[in-house]
Amino acid sequence: MTKLEPSATANGGAADDPSKIWHKTACVLCSCNCGVEVRLDGRDITRVKGNKAHVGSKGYTCEKALRINHYQNGVDRLSSPLRRRADGSYEQVDWDTAISEVAARLREVADAHGGDKILYYGGGGQGNHLGGAYGAATRRALGITRRSNALAQEKTGEAWVDGRMVGTHTSPDFHHTEVGLFLGKNPWHSHGIPEARRTLKALSSDPDRALIVIDPRRTETADLADHFLQVIPGTDAFCIAALTAVIVQDGHVADRWIAANTVGSEPVLAALAEVPVADYAARCGVDEAELRACATRIGQAESFAILEDLGIEMAPNSTLVSYLQKLLWALTGNFAKAGGVNTHSSLVPLFSYRASGKEPRDPVTDSVVISGLMQCNEIAESVLTDHPDRLRAMFIESANPVHSLADSPAFREAMRALDFSVVIDVAFTETAREADYVLPASSQYEKVETTFFTLEFPENVLYVRPPLLQPLEGTLPEPEIHSRLIRALGVYDDTEIEPLRAAAREGRGAFATAFAEAGAAKPELAGVGAAVMYEALGPVLPAGMAGAAPLWFSAQQCAMRNADAVRAAGIQGDDESLGDALFDAMLAGDDGLIFTRHEYGDAWSLVRTPDLKIHLDIPDLLEELGELSAKPSTYATDDYPFILAAGERRSFTANTLVRDPAWRKKDPDGSLRMNPVDASELGIGDGSRVRVVTRAGAAETVVETTDTLQRRHITLPNGMGLDYPGDDNEAKATGVSPNELTTADWRDHIAGTPWHKHVPARVEPIPA
Ligand code: SF4
Repeated sequence: MTKLEPSATANGGAADDPSKIWHKTACVLCSCNCGVEVRLDGRDITRVKGNKAHVGSKGYTCEKALRINHYQNGVDRLSSPLRRRADGSYEQVDWDTAISEVAARLREVADAHGGDKILYYGGGGQGNHLGGAYGAATRRALGITRRSNALAQEKTGEAWVDGRMVGTHTSPDFHHTEVGLFLGKNPWHSHGIPEARRTLKALSSDPDRALIVIDPRRTETADLADHFLQVIPGTDAFCIAALTAVIVQDGHVADRWIAANTVGSEPVLAALAEVPVADYAARCGVDEAELRACATRIGQAESFAILEDLGIEMAPNSTLVSYLQKLLWALTGNFAKAGGVNTHSSLVPLFSYRASGKEPRDPVTDSVVISGLMQCNEIAESVLTDHPDRLRAMFIESANPVHSLADSPAFREAMRALDFSVVIDVAFTETAREADYVLPASSQYEKVETTFFTLEFPENVLYVRPPLLQPLEGTLPEPEIHSRLIRALGVYDDTEIEPLRAAAREGRGAFATAFAEAGAAKPELAGVGAAVMYEALGPVLPAGMAGAAPLWFSAQQCAMRNADAVRAAGIQGDDESLGDALFDAMLAGDDGLIFTRHEYGDAWSLVRTPDLKIHLDIPDLLEELGELSAKPSTYATDDYPFILAAGERRSFTANTLVRDPAWRKKDPDGSLRMNPVDASELGIGDGSRVRVVTRAGAAETVVETTDTLQRRHITLPNGMGLDYPGDDNEAKATGVSPNELTTADWRDHIAGTPWHKHVPARVEPIPA
């Protein structure tokens, strides 16, 4: 390991007192990765403040960042590789033993059944995507072709639609929009856009702009809205269909723009002309006049941007809703303009798209594999089957699928049925407890890291953050874990790496030539390029930054694809020298880096449909739109009269990154929220204990009443129910683990995204 020093960036006038030094890094608790400055006391993060100089977040943070020490110094951090004994307990083993045995067991499965019977799950959380780059190298070393991650729980339906319409990812420009619409999204708590609360307040307070919210719950964002369409849970499709239909029926379609820039408008306009607006407004429980007023405001605006999130992505008709919301901006011509919806450049694209619509199918389930991701809800059934192509092993990295995927008991059973499983993580998670081997990773503050959530336009930001701390003893950063595994798998050895190291010492040009020649002579080396770059180029990078070596290749690719936009961002050079300059700027930027700066019109050059036009017609979804009126408005039943949103984001929830329940200032148990009238009918109130029962199971919790919820709508927070050692060192769970209450078959029929926000349930009071 390269010796590193913490990156002290400002001393606050007390250079002789290390605890007074501010160090620049990022909050890792959501996809925004706000730049922060922290103070350290030994290995403890004692103070956190927003980094005003950060080019992306500009000093913005929310309350969660202040408590990141609960992530960094959780008491269930792992500090030794673990091997599972026959009786289910674990023993510590040294790294050499763990690496050689894990490599041998994976090789055994790949040789006996094929690498395609191993599933790679995860590969990066909210703030650590570099591990995913190295995971890709290990996948290639073993011939692993099946993979999945949390994006397949949430975003694959939208990606499927984006792929067909635009051929790539799209991004709303809320900073400049006149009218912004949030659909099943509460950015006040879930963020997802830069400077979320500032942006919401700016939209809300400007009389010339408008904020529209569609949500079943009166969220903090809804409280700021000019128009709030409070839909009945599960009826978003009726609402968004009616809204889009008014655009068509009342003449707000940008006809000339549509004729010039799109194909396939005729069947879309015909289908939307048939939508019964009054009926659908009634079906979703929204006042028709207010719905029409929203459509008119959108239709007459200079610019309009919209963003969907889990509220619709994890609810009925989710892929159809994604389609209809994209028609809303497309039919009104709000593309490739300030305040509209745009494509964007990426450093490393998070999704791959097929504009042809010809996705591959999973060999076991025959479901579409969107963006290369197997549908999360099908993983357990793809193990627990006698199909010849069933999964035989899992490689899980920086993810906790036992807790985060539907039907936790089934996933546990699936893990136990595997021939082999290995987990790389910082903590002894619910998933780690089911694995054959657990490899302890260094935390996100103990290694160089970045995220590939580079989704902004026209300026796109990347932040490669140096390590704050040395790795916790006994842990290794992912680049080291994967390169050791790849060596143990016999893909390369020092005789192949040494000449590349020598070339890197000569300079980038010599390394580029040597790397290309080595890859041409032995394609397996190119396949594990991330590990090769770490081993050969890493040693000549600044101290602590070796793990960022694969970004050199990404920088070259990005510079090649977006040369003008990279230069417009102030990075100079041509061809390879531009890529080198971009890479150097990435490593030097303590405050993040604007790596591309576009003109709005560039959004067209980033469209990836074959004819570079927007394709409006998706026949499967138009057919589904035609059948919408026959679909139920709710899946509540007499037995399960409530609709449970399992996994609401609240002030102190952050997926499962923070496991220590002490980080929650309020609501330590993660209460079940319900309408006070419902509570009164059940004879219960705030603090009452209840049992929540669903088709999958039951869980006990406490009640908190709130009139922000409609009748018969209840919510539980995400990220709860994690086993964490208490004062007596016994692991115990706090709150309800949402996926003990969900089933894997409750999902979208195209993307397979789970309906976690629409789980029929009943509430049973527990007598005091
Ligand atoms: S949790 Fe808050 S501070 Fe942290 S990255 Fe997200 S918005 Fe920023």
